[in-house]
Amino acid sequence: MPYVKFLGTGGARFVVAKQLRSSAGVLVESNERKLLIDPGPGTLARLANSRPKVNLDTVSGIILTHIHLDHSTDANVIIDSIAEGGFKRKGVLFTTHEAVEGENRVILPYLLPFLERYDFLEHKKTFEEGDICFTTYRHLHSVETYGIKMDLSGKMVSFLVDTQYFDSLLEYYKGSDILILNVVLLESRQNIMHLSVDDAKRLINGIKPGKAILTHFGMGILKANPLLVSQKLSQETGVEVVAAYDGMKVEI
Ligand SMILES: [Zn+2]
Repeated sequence: MPYVKFLGTGGARFVVAKQLRSSAGVLVESNERKLLIDPGPGTLARLANSRPKVNLDTVSGIILTHIHLDHSTDANVIIDSIAEGGFKRKGVLFTTHEAVEGENRVILPYLLPFLERYDFLEHKKTFEEGDICFTTYRHLHSVETYGIKMDLSGKMVSFLVDTQYFDSLLEYYKGSDILILNVVLLESRQNIMHLSVDDAKRLINGIKPGKAILTHFGMGILKANPLLVSQKLSQETGVEVVAAYDGMKVEI
């Protein structure tokens, strides 16, 4: 059965700096094919300490949605590990042009030849890796960023990663069975291009997924208690809303 495992659920600078929640990424598995989404700081360690332990030679590759550090720092070491230091040409990488070619590129150029292939995320472009099929959508964030709508055995699982709110998100993610939202902020703040709890409510009401999962918490939400925040959203939207925790596994 396909699953999504939240290795980490922390986001934003203070939570990451203090590791109040792990900033490791998300693991997706379908038919023995594993992909890591946004391997932030601590992902490698979490994979090794995960139960059951995840061996990197069983991981197909990485989807990196944008270059921010809390999403990208472990990408290089994971690429190197999958390819066994370049002795094997192995691993796939799906990421932005900025991550590979930009002035602020975060993927080390010498690692690219280690990969079996890499491809660039674009707006409304569809990718296949084994039986995992996904389409990406451009978000509004401070750097080039894409969200992911993934088909896992016929179920639509969406990763609505870092973005500010805009109405087109409702159209992009409609039909989601599971909607995973990076909700960094308790309250909207100007010039911070992240979703707040109110934005999440608008999105859940507009998309009406079968289930919504909140993750990537900033300090304000952690203080307010993600569990209480999710319970309130459930009552207000009539949709089952849960708060992710480090190590949470969701079978699809
Ligand atoms: Zn970001």
